[in-house]
Amino acid sequence: MSEQDPFKIVIAGGGTAGWMAASLLARFSPAHFEIELVESETIGTVGVGEATIPQIRHFNQALGIDEAEFLRETKGSFKLGIAFDGWMGDGHSYMHAFGQVGRGAGLLPFHQHWLRARKLGHARPLAHYSLNEIAARALRMPAPGGPELPYAYHFDAGLYAAFLRRFAEARGVTRTEGLIESVERNGETGDIAALTLDGDRRIEGDLFIDCTGFRGLLIEGAMEAGFDDWSHLLPCDRAVAVPCSGGGDFTPYTRSIAREAGWQWRIPLQHRIGNGYVFSSAHISEDKAAETLLANLDGEADGTPRVLKFTTGKRHRQWVGNCVALGLAAGFMEPLESTSIHLVQSALARVLQLLPSGRPDPALVDHFNAQADFEWTRIRDFLVLHYWANGREGQPFWDAMRALDLPDTLSAKIEQWRAGGHIHREHEELFTEVAWFQVLAGQGVEADSYNPLADAVPENELVGLLASTEEQMVRAANAMPQHVEVLGKLVSQAARK
Ligand code: FAD
Repeated sequence: MSEQDPFKIVIAGGGTAGWMAASLLARFSPAHFEIELVESETIGTVGVGEATIPQIRHFNQALGIDEAEFLRETKGSFKLGIAFDGWMGDGHSYMHAFGQVGRGAGLLPFHQHWLRARKLGHARPLAHYSLNEIAARALRMPAPGGPELPYAYHFDAGLYAAFLRRFAEARGVTRTEGLIESVERNGETGDIAALTLDGDRRIEGDLFIDCTGFRGLLIEGAMEAGFDDWSHLLPCDRAVAVPCSGGGDFTPYTRSIAREAGWQWRIPLQHRIGNGYVFSSAHISEDKAAETLLANLDGEADGTPRVLKFTTGKRHRQWVGNCVALGLAAGFMEPLESTSIHLVQSALARVLQLLPSGRPDPALVDHFNAQADFEWTRIRDFLVLHYWANGREGQPFWDAMRALDLPDTLSAKIEQWRAGGHIHREHEELFTEVAWFQVLAGQGVEADSYNPLADAVPENELVGLLASTEEQMVRAANAMPQHVEVLGKLVSQAARK
């Protein structure tokens, strides 16, 4: 195939994943690439997904999206972190806040000094040394143009998909409405040749992106990629979800509240609060979970709770032949750390890096799959840590989670932490040392010692370092306006444009 022959990319599915793919490809692919997206309104989308991590901002920036317009269109809000309430027992709360915690000194990161200070009886909980957390708990947020804090968004993923659809269609993506009935494969290569739609329509392509959601119509249905089932490590397999009218604090953070057999999310948007209870069906019935959710809302429920069923795990191969899966078609890990939409984004970045202009080279496909394996297993480990280190004794679900047989990769991380307060972020792992630190320390996993280099800082200096860090952060946070004001201003600016 010469460079200028047309190259056709077919995206199957128009949920958040499909339209993210269409937008990014429309923005970056060369003129001879043709992009068609097929979706079926009768099937619809999964209809949940509201919390993200800071990397989403890079995605929007890459597309050149205006932040104020995006927030207005998706009814979004700001997110500075996630509060984990009750994971160590009722009444306890800690935060995985984005960004740095404390300040390092000398060669060492902050957590080594904090571990030493704790042994000496000088350290306060991490909440006192994280600017994101101090601001978030005070419901504050920097004004645009002020000092930046790392942040992400809460938004309505359905509205985001609609927003991206307008973006992609304006840049030449063709949308075809129709139900994909079968997938036709090339008898020689085994690649996908075409999708057959209702009414005898046939859509041919060179590269197929499967964004058909949990069903994985192309990647599993046709290409039989296989599934790595991780439900023995993350046994939650259902969620009940219901939005409610606004009530309670308009928090610039997600809340994850531990319940009898899982946890409940609370995500404030401009027009409603998103709520859901993620649970293990082996430990609680759907009815009881729905009852618990409804009893724990800050406002009036908007409708009856919807049940979503899932199995945690990933496609064994997310790219097979000329078919690559994104979003729920690629796999699913529960939304505890809001990673699903990010996984679409990072897989898309890899697709762009390896973008074929003919038949995909098997060596590059293997490389893509190896990277996906690494990324997914390390996120899985991070999620498992939250459950394993819980302090909710006497509740069967939580007792079972504390007794989990951990994957070797996670055991090794915990051992290194215990042995000397070491946290080692492996190449391209999503969650940083600071993220691991907050969960390890927040959930009481004790480090037996710390790096002896920390002893080089005189004790009075250490005390001063901690006190001044806290004081500066409290001062900086107090100078910030309320989240609700910052958002209100931005959204009304966008409306005036
Ligand atoms: P879907 O939304 O299911 O879209 C599938 C598309 O394929 C639809 O357009 C459908 O019409 C089309 N389709 C399917 N079959 C056919 C067919 N035969 N013919 C034609 N079209 C077809 N992610 C986060 O990042 N943060 C969160 O907080 C978060 N919370 C979640 C909570 C729960 C309980 C669940 C289940 C998921 C959550 N997610 C979250 C994940 C997030 O919802 C998804 O990653 C995201 O919405 C992408 O979904 P998708 O586009 O892959 O699939």
